[in-house]
Amino acid sequence: MNWMISANGKMYDHASSFATFGFIDWRQRANYSVGDVVFIYCTKPIKRVMYKCEIVECDKSFNECVDDSKFWLDVEEYRKSQQGKYARLILVEQVDSPYLDLKCLFDNGLKAAPQGPIKLSEKLYNYINKHFNDHYTNGFFQDVELTENYNEGHVIKTQVNRYERSSIARRRCIEHHGTACSICGMDFGEKYGELGEGFIHIHHLKPLHSIGKDYIVDYKNDLIPVCPNCHAMIHRIENVDSKTLEEIKLILKK
Ligand SMILES: [Zn+2]
Ligand SMILES: [Zn+2]
Repeated sequence: MNWMISANGKMYDHASSFATFGFIDWRQRANYSVGDVVFIYCTKPIKRVMYKCEIVECDKSFNECVDDSKFWLDVEEYRKSQQGKYARLILVEQVDSPYLDLKCLFDNGLKAAPQGPIKLSEKLYNYINKHFNDHYTNGFFQDVELTENYNEGHVIKTQVNRYERSSIARRRCIEHHGTACSICGMDFGEKYGELGEGFIHIHHLKPLHSIGKDYIVDYKNDLIPVCPNCHAMIHRIENVDSKTLEEIKLILKK
C-alpha cells in the first residue's frame, strides 16, 4: 500500500529531523505495513510533496521512539502526541519539484488537500514517484559537470550524474561502505584530521544490463565512495558505464 501524509512545518522541523536521524517516528494514524511507501506533503507555505519514505517499523509506543523533542516547534502538540502508536518512516529521497505542487497533484488524481493519511491510487503513486531520483527517469543519467579547484592552480572537471549529488544517496552509500576511497583507499579524515572528516565523492556504477523503466538504485552495490582524483579518472575511462568495479580498479591500477 502507498500513502500520502501531510507535514506542518510550523509544528515540527522535518528537514532537520530527517537530516539528523534519517527517519522520523510518526504518529500512526493508518493501518501501515512494513515496506509501505509514504510520501510527505508539506503544507503552507511550501504546498508540495517533498519526501519519499518507507515504513520500516510499525506499532511502536512513544517510549520506543527516538528523542526528537528538540525538533518540535509546538510544545503543546508535542505533549499531546505522546500517546498511541508510532511508525518509523525512513527517508528514501528528498526532492523539491514544481511538478509535485498541489495543482499538479490535483491534475493527477488527488481529490482533496492532504490532512490525514491518504491511500494513493496507482496513477497518483506513479506520477509522484517518477519525480524522485531513486527511480529510473529520463533525466536520471544526465551528467552535470562538477569543477574542482586544486591548490596548484589546476582545475579538474568531473562529470557527475544527478544521483551522485543526492544527499540521501550519499548517506546510504557511506553508511554501507564508509568514507575511504574504493579505488585507492584514501580517507580524508585520516589524512587531514577533523577538516577532512566525512569528505568523499560518490560514484554511481551504472549497471546498464539492469536499466529499464523499473530500475531502482541499489544503494549497496551501485554506489561507491571515491576520492576526487580517482573519481575524475573513472569518468575518463571509455565506456565506463559498462564496466564493473573490479574492471575499473584494474584499469586505474595500471
Ligand atoms: Zn582514490
Ligand atoms: Zn561518478
